[in-house]
This record gives sequence, structure tokens and C-alpha cells, in this order.
Amino acid sequence: MAVQRTFSIIKPDATKRNLTGKVNAMIEDAGLRIVGQRRVQLSEDQAKKFYEVHAERPFYGDLVKFMTSGPVVVQVLEGENAIAKYREVMGATNPAEADAGTIRAAFAESIDANTVHGSDAPETAAEEIAQFFTDADIVG
Ligand code: ATP
Ligand code: MG
Repeated sequence: MAVQRTFSIIKPDATKRNLTGKVNAMIEDAGLRIVGQRRVQLSEDQAKKFYEVHAERPFYGDLVKFMTSGPVVVQVLEGENAIAKYREVMGATNPAEADAGTIRAAFAESIDANTVHGSDAPETAAEEIAQFFTDADIVG
């Protein structure tokens, strides 16, 4: 499996509780490298665009409200099989279903306030990285 890049967000529930370092320790312990990183306040338009795929879902409005409720940390992660590996480290969307040892099992408060985002495929990873980073912002 080749080296890949994936896009990560540390969500507002985690930045509010000062958990950025603890989340990133789990990411690094899994062998992923943080090669791009920025702390930002998402605008409503940015959050809506980012989760556009869920626009028709009943939770879309609450999701946008949550993602703009405080700062987030946007990151590019790099490593062997990074997309699937990070999804594994994150755990299931609903923390009640997340395996022990995953970020969501350790820190997520609910299915909305679930601490992290990770890309789900190579195409979405490339699109999501490009929404927040230029090539010059990523140093491997
Ligand atoms: P993310 O895209 O944030 O990494 P995910 O890929 O595990 O999470 P998705 O199905 O893409 O899950 O959903 C995006 C986000 O929408 C979830 O992280 C969660 O916060 C929210 N969400 C998903 N399903 C529900 C639901 N049934 N009720 C409330 N919120 C939900
Ligand atoms: Mg998703």
C-alpha cells in the first residue's frame, strides 16, 4: 500500500475541552504524520460546503451549527494507507459503537460532538485538503 494523504478535522467539542494534543498523540502513535495544520473558525458557508453531501439529511442544520460553534483544527495526515488507517483510529461515527482504543471511544460526547472528522476515500481526501491547504502549506 502506498503512502497516502488524508484530511482531518479536530472538531469544536475537542478544542473546547483542550484535547487537541491528546487527539494528535493518538494520531501520531498510530504512525500517521501531521504534515499540514491550522486552527480556524469555520464560517457558516465553509461548514455548509464541507458537509454538502449531507445537505438533504435531517441533521444537516445541527451539524453546520455544531461545526461553527467554536474553533477547529484542520490537518493533513500522511502515512501508509492513511485514509483507512485514520478511519480506524477515529472509530465509528456514533461513539456508543466505537471500538475501545479509538479517538471517538476515548473522547466523543455524542454522534454530533464526535471529536474528529476523517476523509472516507482518495477523491474526497484530495477535495477536502484542497478546500483548506495549498501545496506550500503541506510539508512532509
Ligand atoms: P465525518 O464525516 O465527520 O468524519 P463520518 O464520516 O463518521 O464523520 P458521516 O456519515 O460522514 O460520518 O456524517 C458526518 C457527520 O454528521 C458525523 O460525524 C456526525 O457528526 C453527523 N451525523 C451523521 N449521522 C448522524 C445522525 N444520524 N444524527 C446526527 N448526526 C449525524
Ligand atoms: Mg464522513
